[in-house]
Amino acid sequence: MQKSAPRQRIQKGAIATPWAQELAQAIARPEDLPEALAERIAPFANAQGLFPFKVTPYYLSLADPRDPRDPILLQCLPDAAELKERPGLELDPIAERRHSPLPGLVRRYPDRAALLLGRACAVHCRHCTRRHMGQGNIRGLDAAGLEDAIAFLRDHAEISDVLVTGGDPLLLDDEVLAHALSRLRSIQSVRVIRVGTRAPVTLPTRITPNLIKTLRRFGPLYVLTQFNHPREITSLSKIALGRLASAGLPVANQSVLLRGVNDDPEVMEELCRNLFGLRVRPYYLFLCDQWPGLEHLRTSFDAALAVSEHLRGRLSGLAIPQLVVDLPGGLGKVPVGPDYVVRREPGKVVLRAPSGERVEYLNPIVQEPAEKEA
Ligand SMILES: *Cc1c(COP(=O)(O)O)cnc(C)c1O
Repeated sequence: MQKSAPRQRIQKGAIATPWAQELAQAIARPEDLPEALAERIAPFANAQGLFPFKVTPYYLSLADPRDPRDPILLQCLPDAAELKERPGLELDPIAERRHSPLPGLVRRYPDRAALLLGRACAVHCRHCTRRHMGQGNIRGLDAAGLEDAIAFLRDHAEISDVLVTGGDPLLLDDEVLAHALSRLRSIQSVRVIRVGTRAPVTLPTRITPNLIKTLRRFGPLYVLTQFNHPREITSLSKIALGRLASAGLPVANQSVLLRGVNDDPEVMEELCRNLFGLRVRPYYLFLCDQWPGLEHLRTSFDAALAVSEHLRGRLSGLAIPQLVVDLPGGLGKVPVGPDYVVRREPGKVVLRAPSGERVEYLNPIVQEPAEKEA
């Protein structure tokens, strides 16, 4: 994302696409908000260092402006709590700058890399993981930067999976996106392309038939999106998701666990169930990054476990996201509990069922070196 509003490409005389129109109307100044909301943020909206806000009229329309704890507003409206300091928290908790070999590229794993192609977003999520965008190597790619990144990926044939992200890469025009994707596809060692986008949530009209056609040319291509609350699933987002799935573009969802938004186990269950029914695979459930100013949106580790625990036994494994922590220091994402192993004994383990009952799983009676230690 970027501080200024994205440059619009609506030409005079041309009929703007609904999504470009929607984006052109995105609200980024407090005075353009509905009055009640403008008043709510007025006391601190111009404070130094506040992460700039921006929201599409569509996304804002999902909110109930009278509800101070509205799950949509919590995600897009600045909060005075963002200005509170918490000593001990690092800037750039996931250390992307340290893991960026060149501008616009982040690499933390041997076989995967993230390409920061998008320079803007339709909505600035308050919990944005890339709020440092624009600093150091963490910026959206321009044409020359893209060629440098392509050269790097070509030289590192062990990278077979490229996550195209940003910013939101789907804010780029179809032709610009097609160019970048075709450059990626020109690299033999790149097998899978993943596009990370919140457009199905914040700007669903972006998922046009022409975009689908564009994405299909560069498969295998997965779309990673971020629905955080059941209310974000609307008739428009259903159309968007249906188009992607029907075109053979698998869609996976990466939620961020946020206090007051989706830390209620039943809310998360409803979200996952509904996504699953729309052919969207709940993939990750992230504990919120430890950015300063996000204390009011984060949940405790135990609260996260409780949400995860609730899902197991109620939903198909295909509908259960893996709870993960993006490790501080940029050491990668790791899965965390809940743990169903109660204890290990010689030759067996004791497991617990979602109901709480204990059962034993016996190791086979074969003398294997590893088993002796059990
Ligand atoms: C999250 C991430 C990936 C992808 O991780 P998966 O676990 O494969 O989804 C790749 N590169 C970077 C830098 C990431 O942050």
